[in-house]
Amino acid sequence: MYNAMKLKEIGEFGFIDRVAPLGRIRAEGVVKGIGDDCAVVAVDGPDYLLVTTDLLVERVHFLMDWAPAEVIGRKALAVNLSDIAACGGIPLDAFISLAIPEDLDVEWLDGFYQGMRGLADSFRVNLLGGDTTGSKSDLVINVAVTGRVPCDQVLLRHTAREGDVIAITGPLGESAAGLEILLGKLQLPPQVAAPLVAAHLEPRPHLPEGRFLASSGACTSAIDVSDGLSSDLGHLCQDSGVAAVVYEDRIPVSLPLARFAELTSRNPIEIILSGGEDYVLLVALKHNMAEDLQRRAHQQGMRLHPIGEFIAGRGMELVRRNNTREPFGPRGWDHFRA
Ligand code: ADP
Ligand code: MG
Repeated sequence: MYNAMKLKEIGEFGFIDRVAPLGRIRAEGVVKGIGDDCAVVAVDGPDYLLVTTDLLVERVHFLMDWAPAEVIGRKALAVNLSDIAACGGIPLDAFISLAIPEDLDVEWLDGFYQGMRGLADSFRVNLLGGDTTGSKSDLVINVAVTGRVPCDQVLLRHTAREGDVIAITGPLGESAAGLEILLGKLQLPPQVAAPLVAAHLEPRPHLPEGRFLASSGACTSAIDVSDGLSSDLGHLCQDSGVAAVVYEDRIPVSLPLARFAELTSRNPIEIILSGGEDYVLLVALKHNMAEDLQRRAHQQGMRLHPIGEFIAGRGMELVRRNNTREPFGPRGWDHFRA
């Protein structure tokens, strides 16, 4: 008998796990299929080919009155470049597909492309194709990006090892706070609100950090934080077969996030664990190389904050400031469980 099961019962990641085994028809050349930030494909030459794609849907990911078209255009490309960064890669070419409501202003689309082109230009990415259709209601934006990475440098989610240091390449939680402000739930002073809203709308793809880490020989695994620290660290742990310990007092809290937490009577760490769309890199570093790498990163104007370590076992644990230990699970963004 047909047994109806709703998507919300298995969640976004339960659904992806269901379709993942269907993907592999021709095994040769597939270094990594479904289940990482990019698909990794072996081609002739010293580099792997990387491919990634992301969807932005009006009213699910953004509202038209949140930001000028240029900003939406930049973000649509930036989130894809972030996945290339998470694999340690260099982006190459982008493909843009749009389902457009018929009453959308052409000027809006011009602005969208101008924004996207500006970011593409700064990372030397071509815009090489796409598809255009009508939409009955909302604007749907899909961007796909290709990239390359030297075969011996690719960063994947399943290769973190017990003993590795857990590090992040920038502050977390600001984007989630910015989203709350955009959703109109809170009235805050502009000097607090503006940088948080900017963190949500204008994420910077950490491509220089990705290349620095991939070429260092000291980074064993990476993911970009799109769904929140707890969820994305959960992916690294589960895929690598290790557990994680994170120290509350090592997690950087930016000034705007600290002010936001104070004004909303929250602990910033809770926002950081569950909030998504930070697009910084969460990485595993060889223990004996981590300190030197951190020093070199800082010398080059990049940030690398050690926040914990991978250990043997399963699950994740947070060591509070008072030294109590609390297990935590993935509680970041899931499209069907929100
Ligand atoms: P990211 O947040 O890095 O973009 P996702 O969580 O969206 O990654 O996706 C995780 C993995 O699942 C990726 O390998 C992605 O290509 C794959 N994936 C997501 N949705 C689908 C789908 N509908 N069909 C096949 N693969 C999918
Ligand atoms: Mg990703």
